[in-house]
Amino acid sequence: MTLEQRLKDVERRIAQACERSGRNPGSVNVVAVTKYVSAGTAKRTVEAGMRHIGENRWPAAEEKWRLLEGQAVFHYIGSLQSRKVRDVVGKFDYIHSLDRLSLAEEIHKRAEALGIRVPCFLQVNVSGEDSKHGLAPEVVPALVASLGKLSGIRPVGLMTMAPLADDAEETRPVFAGLRKLMDELNGLSLLDEPMTELSMGMSGDFEVAIEEGATWVRLGSVLVGHEENDG
Ligand SMILES: *Cc1c(COP(=O)(O)O)cnc(C)c1O
Repeated sequence: MTLEQRLKDVERRIAQACERSGRNPGSVNVVAVTKYVSAGTAKRTVEAGMRHIGENRWPAAEEKWRLLEGQAVFHYIGSLQSRKVRDVVGKFDYIHSLDRLSLAEEIHKRAEALGIRVPCFLQVNVSGEDSKHGLAPEVVPALVASLGKLSGIRPVGLMTMAPLADDAEETRPVFAGLRKLMDELNGLSLLDEPMTELSMGMSGDFEVAIEEGATWVRLGSVLVGHEENDG
């Protein structure tokens, strides 16, 4: 399939998942994850109409960022070391991987120096799987409470990665759990504004994530492919 065909196909699958769950397709945003492909392919993805680009490491993203700065909205989706915050804040428009207070403080400091507020998702390890980064659900309220004091951060919602599953249906409780956690957090009124965004769903499980309320799906292989297959 060409890039354009894959895009159409993903749009159709998103629309169907929305129809099954009574949602408006306009409420689901797609981040095209370009970590597997070249800067040229990332550029074609943007030219084909995708506005949001996701990358998980700064050195690998740098060429794409320089090429597409101003034409795309950049999302940092990988785990972020505090010493890399200087590279990321000011270039990436969203951070999906906020998972500790020390990182929040670094982002805040850098954002404040630049006079910006960075929209951030708190990454939660809903499944409790050891290999996954993210906060244990029970410690999320305390971190959210601390974020209220960090003006450089705008907490927009929660992000999770589901464990790899042969059957996407197995991921449903993880996505439902993230949505429930956001509702509970909003019920605690720890922030001036409620969080509204759920970043969940990848190539193998995005339809289930949408049925469970995802407002951002992060799609790599299903959307932009892998360069070795495609070119
Ligand atoms: C790579 C990656 C994705 C996209 O993965 P696909 O399965 O290829 O869609 C999404 N989210 C994160 C955090 C990633 O690292």
